[in-house]
Amino acid sequence: RVVLGFESSCDETGVAICNTHGEILGQALHSQIRMHKDYGGVVPELASRDHIRRLEPLMKEALAQAGLELKDMDAIAVTAGPGLPGALMAGSAFACSLAFGLQLPVIPVHHLEGHLLSPLLADPAPAFPFTALLVSGGHSQLMAVNELGSYELLGETLDDAAGEAFDKTAKMIGLPYPGGPALAKLAEVGDGQRFAFPRPMLHSKNLDFSFSGLKTAVLTTAMKLAGLDQPTETMQLTDTDKADLCASFQNAVVEVLVKKCMSAAAQTGHKRLVVAGGVGANIALRQALQTQASKAGIAVYFPPLSLCTDNGVMIAFAAALRLAKQPELLNNRSYSMTTHPRWPLTAANQNHTTNG
Ligand code: ATP
Ligand code: MG
Ligand code: FE
Repeated sequence: RVVLGFESSCDETGVAICNTHGEILGQALHSQIRMHKDYGGVVPELASRDHIRRLEPLMKEALAQAGLELKDMDAIAVTAGPGLPGALMAGSAFACSLAFGLQLPVIPVHHLEGHLLSPLLADPAPAFPFTALLVSGGHSQLMAVNELGSYELLGETLDDAAGEAFDKTAKMIGLPYPGGPALAKLAEVGDGQRFAFPRPMLHSKNLDFSFSGLKTAVLTTAMKLAGLDQPTETMQLTDTDKADLCASFQNAVVEVLVKKCMSAAAQTGHKRLVVAGGVGANIALRQALQTQASKAGIAVYFPPLSLCTDNGVMIAFAAALRLAKQPELLNNRSYSMTTHPRWPLTAANQNHTTNG
């Protein structure tokens, strides 16, 4: 069976084709980063309009790459949430109309389930069950993944998501948009020991995170370095100061994430740990996790670097896995386009069992 999947929850338009063996047959992706750059963040209205523009050409590109035509598809998958309402609606309207026209079933996919299952695209792929660290622009969660469609929340951020903390901190010290990757790059040449930033919740007994205090600590330090009493739009910082701030910030985030991952794995007893979401592309995090996990006899799995941030593959792939397990999803002929801008991942549990 072949699934054509669409992702449009935020600022990436992604289209991909996967089969129920979990193979990627074609993929196309457009990032709106350049469009939003001048605004320093994602502008929702621009995002929705751009998705509408890109969906069809990207679909054609993915089909051409796969050497397939629409008539070869068995199901249409689309991100139903969470995400920007207009952006989700653009993708959903396109996917549902297409499915209606072709009389194919629609498989709505939870965006975070897409992220969460993307480490299964690693070679070798982890077996179920595993413990997952999901760190993206909008979420920071630890999950127990018992099997496909059975997700248990172990802990989450009380304020900013990890990716959000990277982005906001980067913006604060004047790094170009999008901040996360820029901060990580500069951290490579900085001294991570120079500033002793707080490690929020490091010693708390639970598996929750908090990153907003850390962000404030960086701001206070940066202001001191720039000789300011009040934060301003542009802080005068030397290249060395910037790099050291980045490295020290990244060290703090990585230390907390790694510690919590190890506690989570100890709690679940899983010998497999996966990392998903955009921050999973962070090399320092990958290395630190690898080191700590191997000491504890735990294997770590990461999605391929290019599939950490949003993409269509993870949506087509998640739907294909579900379809392989529940062939009855092929009978679905409901085209009521339902999007869920806010949607807990545990809702995907229910969705998984009730949809069939
Ligand atoms: P969500 O999935 O929660 O809805 P999102 O889709 O916007 O949010 P992703 O696309 O998974 O998030 O990830 C984007 C985030 O990843 C951004 O915050 C970005 O800064 C961060 N990010 C990407 N690469 C890196 C990196 N190398 N180091 C740190 N952060 C990174
Ligand atoms: Mg994005
Ligand atoms: Fe995402």
